[in-house]
Amino acid sequence: MSADKKIVIATHNMDKQKEMIFLLANMDIEVLTMENFPHIGEIEETGTTLHENSLIKAREVYKITGLPSLADDTGLEVDALNGDPGVYSARYSGENSTYQENVNKLLTELKDVPIQLRTARFRTVVTFVHLGVELYEEGVVEGIIATEIKGIKGFGYDPIFKPLDQKLTFAEMSKDKKSLISHRAKALEKMVQQLNKYFKNGGSIE
Ligand code: IMP
Repeated sequence: MSADKKIVIATHNMDKQKEMIFLLANMDIEVLTMENFPHIGEIEETGTTLHENSLIKAREVYKITGLPSLADDTGLEVDALNGDPGVYSARYSGENSTYQENVNKLLTELKDVPIQLRTARFRTVVTFVHLGVELYEEGVVEGIIATEIKGIKGFGYDPIFKPLDQKLTFAEMSKDKKSLISHRAKALEKMVQQLNKYFKNGGSIE
């Protein structure tokens, strides 16, 4: 059996897509995106965990394209909010909410929480689906939620997330720096190792 040396990134989120392309750049593989398959609409995230949602997206894109598919689902878990917004991070302030609205809601929810209790983490689950194979990997980065917005790079909650032992928020860091330490980078780094084996063995993970 030989696996196609192609992979489809199963996300319509251009920010996540850009980071994933960047993080997969060293793989000897053709990376396709949703722009190559304009007939694929939004995929409803009906799961209650990052793992379920990541799997739903990868399975759906694999079902439609027949090509190896890779999805990411990410959540920001804030300890003072018992892990919220978590799997609902994209919809924290309602359906179709903007990054800014979600950030504002989080800052409001945490307005009386002192800095030492503002601990949080980004968690990403990446899932690969092809033929009968389903692989997944997780990446986590610990940090704190800043008291105000800082930086204009990145996306989503980046302007208020300061990784542990860093002076800057993700939105103040260069793309290269975020890509060295992020949740997505950690998950994809492990996944790339699995994929290199998978493609080298012609579609087998033995
Ligand atoms: P989902 O994985 O598409 O469900 O994304 C969840 C939400 O988390 C996104 O809409 C962003 O607001 C946020 N998010 C995901 N990845 C990141 C990141 O790397 N930095 C900041 N926010 C992120």
